[in-house]
Amino acid sequence: MGDWFRGSADGPGLKLYNGASSMFLDVLALPACELAETAFERGFALLLCNSRVGLGNAGFDLDELPWPATGWEAERDFLLRVVRLAAARFRWELLSYEPPPIEVYLAEYERLVLDFSPPAEPVGLPRLWDPEPVEAAFVRCPEHGLYLGDYADCRLCL
Ligand SMILES: [Zn+2]
Repeated sequence: MGDWFRGSADGPGLKLYNGASSMFLDVLALPACELAETAFERGFALLLCNSRVGLGNAGFDLDELPWPATGWEAERDFLLRVVRLAAARFRWELLSYEPPPIEVYLAEYERLVLDFSPPAEPVGLPRLWDPEPVEAAFVRCPEHGLYLGDYADCRLCL
């Protein structure tokens, strides 16, 4: 089973299979947890940290994110900064493996994020996170800097 990373369910996207999907989430989570400041950004970083392969929740479409009605461009910029920093191998020295060349996926995802704008009319999609997450989820792993999220270990401590 693969995971889709798309703008919307009927749009083009990136389909990654278990190992690649997990690595993709790892390399995005590293910069996301470092850069996140607003509630949206922290929510996105937490989503990456909480997405575990095999639980059927690792892929997601950008239109399922709870984009703010105003100022969404700044949040899209945040996503772009995260993707670009991941492509610059941000903190890859903390990974316990040498990632395969996933730059091509990151470049494709960057293009997808660049082309994305949230629908003007709210659509009836399940939103991907609770607007008021518990503060404990944002405790960062002392070794990797990732949010612990819903788990006792960060996704890189596994
Ligand atoms: Zn860790």
